[in-house]
Amino acid sequence: SDKRLLEIRVMSYGDRQLLLIARDVTRIHQLEGMRKDFVANVSHELKTPLTVLQGYLEIMQTMEDADSPNHKPLSLMQQQTTRMQSMVEQLLALSRIEDAVDIDLSQTVNMALMIDILKEEAKALAGTDYTLVFNCEPGLNTHGNELQLRSACSNLISNAIRYTTPGGTISVNWQSVATGALFSVTDTGVGIAPQHINRLTERFYRVDNARSSKTGGSGLGLAIVKHALNHHHSELKVTSEYGKGSIFSFIVPSHLLVRQ
Ligand code: ADP
Repeated sequence: SDKRLLEIRVMSYGDRQLLLIARDVTRIHQLEGMRKDFVANVSHELKTPLTVLQGYLEIMQTMEDADSPNHKPLSLMQQQTTRMQSMVEQLLALSRIEDAVDIDLSQTVNMALMIDILKEEAKALAGTDYTLVFNCEPGLNTHGNELQLRSACSNLISNAIRYTTPGGTISVNWQSVATGALFSVTDTGVGIAPQHINRLTERFYRVDNARSSKTGGSGLGLAIVKHALNHHHSELKVTSEYGKGSIFSFIVPSHLLVRQ
């Protein structure tokens, strides 16, 4: 219990000298652990009451006529409860993924299969209002955790759809590049101004709350993506032009790839 956690930085100083800086981060680490536990517990505790609310709201709604004055408020209450439920699910997903250590990367993820599933999901979400283009290099698979990888890709695709006005195009690509394999999602959507780009993967960060609240998100999706990608020795890259569209991508490094 009296173990200390030190953060050590080594910097070269001049030609032949090294500068060593040690910082005691024990307390910061403890507080961070308490924060994570708190969030996970609260989210878990909120699940049951929300399910009860949702259940009764559904029953009440079926008992009301379509022209009853209660119809609209009940339907709004149901929408908001569903939204809260999905936020709670995302909070739990984030705490699970943040806490995960020693991820087993020994499974081989069949990317063609995974991308097929993502395509069906995207079709269901986009309806007929968007052009969806999916390209997948055959025989290009990777070691990894299928659930985490799929959740990362799925978040990027659903964001691309949610932040693109109907009529737009979303392209998903999986292909070899010099340093590994590139997964990219390109959209012709609202785009993101440069000052926001570095903050997108922060928990609860949303570019424009007024606009984003209509899209029903929680600001947790990209935080989940960031952690899932870190577990796969990869990181999210965002290129965007405000008003024109964005590219969200990551490279799975060569040492994880399985070519067949
Ligand atoms: P949210 O639940 O708000 O979508 P995310 O963490 O997934 O949360 O995304 C954070 C913010 O990044 C969003 O609120 C949105 O402003 C911006 N964003 C994410 N993806 C896109 C995209 N494809 N195009 C434009 N903005 C995006």
